[in-house]
Amino acid sequence: MRTILLGPPGAGKGTQADRIVEKYNVPHISTGDIFRENIKNGTELGKKAQEYMNRGELVPDDLVVEIATDRLLKDDCKERGFLLDGFPRTVYQAQKLDEFLAANGQKLDKVIDLEVSEDVLMIRLTGRRVCKACGASYHVVNIPPKQEGICDKCGGELFQRADDNEETAKNRIDVYNKETAPLVDYYEKAGCLARIDGAAGLEETFSEITAALGE
Ligand code: AMP
Repeated sequence: MRTILLGPPGAGKGTQADRIVEKYNVPHISTGDIFRENIKNGTELGKKAQEYMNRGELVPDDLVVEIATDRLLKDDCKERGFLLDGFPRTVYQAQKLDEFLAANGQKLDKVIDLEVSEDVLMIRLTGRRVCKACGASYHVVNIPPKQEGICDKCGGELFQRADDNEETAKNRIDVYNKETAPLVDYYEKAGCLARIDGAAGLEETFSEITAALGE
């Protein structure tokens, strides 16, 4: 299965990605996760990406295309396909992905577009807390952990992502509207878009996704 999860920051891409990966046994490729891992490990790539990420801006296209296509060349993707989360984010990236797929004799099956209104996105982003140890995601009001600041799953410490503060979150949504929203049209024209209600609740949204992807 070759699928893209599209949608603004805070639409629930990461949460739904975990469930899709479990059900369809497909590698989950999040360019944001790759950058965060590199920042944690102090790599050159991490240093280059960090300043853009902290401002809520996009990392330059060529850098992102290179890390995404390198990852797509790995054996697990050749064997089982992929679920892309957070890539592509510009029309240029989408064109480069198309070129990559064509050159490798591959085709996209579906693009899942998670639709959520802007006020809900802001509430979700600014209230999000993430586990430092295992990456599990919580929300101070909607999905609180049993004990404040502590991960239910592994006991790790919860923190707020540097780019989830109000100002940066707003900028990320603006950048999405300008740079990434045109991809909805791009993939609709390509005939592979599925529009999904990302505010319907976790279970309902997941069942809409599985209906679009097939059982
Ligand atoms: P995410 O975890 O998907 O919200 O990504 C966090 C940040 O990483 C974004 O705000 C961007 O700064 C950067 N990033 C992730 N994926 C991309 C991409 N495809 N193109 C450009 N920047 C990206």
